[in-house]
Amino acid sequence: MDVLNLYTHAGGFLEGHFLLASGRHSPNFLQSTTVMQFPEHAEALGAALAAKFGGLKPDFVLGPAMGGVILAHTVARALGCRALFAEKFGNRMLIRDAFKIGAGEQFLAVEDVITTGGSLRKAIRAAEDEGATCMDVGCIIDRLGSPLAPRSLLSLEFPTYTPEACPLCKAGVPLEEV
Ligand SMILES: [Zn+2]
Repeated sequence: MDVLNLYTHAGGFLEGHFLLASGRHSPNFLQSTTVMQFPEHAEALGAALAAKFGGLKPDFVLGPAMGGVILAHTVARALGCRALFAEKFGNRMLIRDAFKIGAGEQFLAVEDVITTGGSLRKAIRAAEDEGATCMDVGCIIDRLGSPLAPRSLLSLEFPTYTPEACPLCKAGVPLEEV
């Protein structure tokens, strides 16, 4: 699957001058929400990622809200298991009691784009606190450098700059927040 082509055609691969959550500037941004609004794309990406897990049979797939909710659902659909999500609560991620995680259950953790994987690690910890075990981690696009070393459909590293060193700032290109 040509993920970058899919993102480009669905309008989820942005080019310009963006202020990232980290405070750094980049000429590119990947907006999965734009792509995942199309159920056929979400389903295809979920099935392709599910196939990367080499026949693992998890009890559930877990994703952090919001970016991991739809992906966890479509990966779980492809693997024939439950789909759970974790929600941000203060500095932690929590899983609703309604999901009823059983002690000894095994799960896969997924997120659309992983940079450092901070939210995903918090989501994994929340499920492990309930007695479940994380079998593996995956994402659509791996921005590289995450200690999680996820299975991914695409590894991609964009240039990023501090504001002081940003050539787009020097060229006077308007900065967009994303
Ligand atoms: Zn800049």
